[in-house]
Amino acid sequence: MNDVVLTGDRPTGPLHLGHYFGSLANRVKLQDEHPMYVLVADYQVITDRDLPGEIQRNITGLLLDYLAVGIDPDKATIFQHSAIPELNQLLVPFLSLVSVAELGRNPTVKDEIAHSSQQAVSGLMFTYPVHQAADILFCKGTLVPVGKDQLPHVEVTRLVARRFNERYGEVFPLPEAMMGERPLLRGLDGGKMSKSRGNAIALSAGEAETAALIRKARTDADRLITYDETRRPEVANLLTLAGLCLGREPRDLAEEIGYGGAAALKSLVTEAVNDFLRPIRARRAELTESDARRILAEGNERAREQAIKTLQEVRTAMGF
Ligand code: ATP
Ligand code: MG
Repeated sequence: MNDVVLTGDRPTGPLHLGHYFGSLANRVKLQDEHPMYVLVADYQVITDRDLPGEIQRNITGLLLDYLAVGIDPDKATIFQHSAIPELNQLLVPFLSLVSVAELGRNPTVKDEIAHSSQQAVSGLMFTYPVHQAADILFCKGTLVPVGKDQLPHVEVTRLVARRFNERYGEVFPLPEAMMGERPLLRGLDGGKMSKSRGNAIALSAGEAETAALIRKARTDADRLITYDETRRPEVANLLTLAGLCLGREPRDLAEEIGYGGAAALKSLVTEAVNDFLRPIRARRAELTESDARRILAEGNERAREQAIKTLQEVRTAMGF
């Protein structure tokens, strides 16, 4: 069976190195071999905040980030939730397939609630993993390139697909998650690198801005640089970042720095990150916002055709 790839991101801010090594690099490879859908998950922006914020600007930025890293709109269908009513409609039958207890146990949702700035937890926060099942299943996705935080959600999708098939007959394949080279890249504060947590190095950041961010990263006072994830997590994380960008082992980099201390470590990381991102940033600078808007409109049209087909199949299977 040929795989169909589905993956996506929330338009909550610029994509960062965590996205690149967690998922984007895999997408660029997979687009040559499989049909691929890339979702701009705009409705999911309001899972953990009251208002969508600068949504249009963030959507355009996300498109430019995709194109800059090499996602090719002739191969991949890039689309957004809010433009595909038939996809969203799948949420209704799918919600009937999971229990409230199952939704409450999701560890990623629990972590996101802990980091949310909202006064109260919304119903959408608990149910968005089911919305994600609709994202994956509307195109009969079988392969989902994601970071580690998404594994519980892919499990929810498998549960939804399995129960739908049991109750109404075989309609959906069971998808698999595919993790990247670094399924959980940590940010400059040691926690998961996230757009919304102020600890990320954006793919689109300027070189000076990148240097300033790395300068502020936490380290320790020991001048001898060693790679020790348990005892020196901050130093290990910086070595990991440089290692990923250089395609080298973090331990070897630590040995080379030796007694150079945090200053030498940070200048190595800064150079590695800026060198790695330079061609991506240059490509981004050549693109315009109207390119982004046109590509999204074309993708929306293609995705909608697929969603209409799947919703019809679901209605027929259910006897509606
Ligand atoms: P936000 O803070 O707004 O939730 P985010 O940085 O978590 O933003 P998402 O849009 O929620 O980004 O996630 C998009 C994809 O990127 C998912 O597949 C997720 O697993 C992956 N991803 C996000 N952060 C990381 C990370 N630090 N390491 C590896 N993969 C990541
Ligand atoms: Mg997230």
